[in-house]
Amino acid sequence: MRLDKLLSNMGYGSRKEMKKLLKSGSVIVNGEAVKEGKAQVDPFTEEITVNGERVEYREFIYLLMNKPQGVISATEDRQHETVIDLLPVDFAVFEPFPVGRLDKDTEGLLLLTNDGQLAHQLLSPKKHVPKTYFAEIEGEVTERDREIFKHGVTLDDGYVTKPGELLILESGQVSKIELTIMEGKFHQVKRMFQAVGKEVTYLKRISMGSLKLDPALALGEFRELTPEELGALQ
Ligand code: URA
Repeated sequence: MRLDKLLSNMGYGSRKEMKKLLKSGSVIVNGEAVKEGKAQVDPFTEEITVNGERVEYREFIYLLMNKPQGVISATEDRQHETVIDLLPVDFAVFEPFPVGRLDKDTEGLLLLTNDGQLAHQLLSPKKHVPKTYFAEIEGEVTERDREIFKHGVTLDDGYVTKPGELLILESGQVSKIELTIMEGKFHQVKRMFQAVGKEVTYLKRISMGSLKLDPALALGEFRELTPEELGALQ
């Protein structure tokens, strides 16, 4: 690939800034200063340094975000802020996208990556990747609801969900629950409760497959996956 593109992808600055950097002779490829941005390099086999520091090229990034309410889980939106807008430019240059969607008013775990293959694996309906949500529900959530969810719920469009596992943490005027589902239909959690006559007033995703929401991440914060987290997901 082009040297200026590689460096700019790695967060060394814009293409224009790369021109300056290259001109200064601080970019060394296999021991020799290269000043032309259009020079072709293979980042996997060639040794590239900038100001004496080795450029560790990587193709993919994997970010765990604690999505706040009010932002859209998409890469672009004309009206609203997106989860990509929350990333500093040195991560955004990798062009990550959210793996699946959370509603604008849903918080919690969102994986962002540019690894299409992993995203496909996690989203494929055939893989049945479990997703667990914490929710607050207006009114009492009962054992009967648990039984109904266990056998699959008929949604407003006639679709019968796969079994969902409902854990009732507190039942009262406002109930607290955890629900694990194996699929990701549009507004699924809200519609499952709607099907039993109840309303979700707060929703947060707390896990997806082996990946758990990191309690150290405040709303809107993100971090890279650890090698262990990534290994467990693949
Ligand atoms: N189910 C919903 O209803 N909303 C979400 O954001 C995720 C799952």
